[in-house]
Amino acid sequence: MLTFGYRNYTIKSLERFIIYLDVFKSKINKAYHKGEFNPAYKAVVLSWKDFLEGYNIDNDNFNLGIHEMVHAMHFDFLKPNNDSISAILFERYYKKIKQLLQNNPTYRQNLVSSKYLRNYAFTNNFEFIAVLIESFFETPQELKNQFPEMYSYVKKMLNFNFKGY
Ligand SMILES: [Zn+2]
Repeated sequence: MLTFGYRNYTIKSLERFIIYLDVFKSKINKAYHKGEFNPAYKAVVLSWKDFLEGYNIDNDNFNLGIHEMVHAMHFDFLKPNNDSISAILFERYYKKIKQLLQNNPTYRQNLVSSKYLRNYAFTNNFEFIAVLIESFFETPQELKNQFPEMYSYVKKMLNFNFKGY
């Protein structure tokens, strides 16, 4: 879904999926996780139960699969030797999103107080973009109505010109 808009849709930093039945103990930090991207293993690791839940409830802005895939894709696009059009698009609009938030404290404040994005989004820039893209997929109309600039940047970032978006 994430790469439907890209001509070059392969994520070179991703070679495998590791699936657990339920939450698992992370090899990265020994805490229990529902999902993670592990660059050393080039793996997206998922709790299958939580992956399915992301799709069973398709409008709560939680989608584990999309969330972890954004991390994998983002990691890949940040690599200095990645000059694919997809990486350029992603970086260009990611930068605009960051600028919108940095240059505009009121905008950021409105976003926080709207509760449209869960608090976890404000952990760091990586979580922000992962949660924003999850929400874009789950509730595009809500994002479009409440934060049209943000919506349009994500849409351009993913080149996502499809029905319903
Ligand atoms: Zn995350």
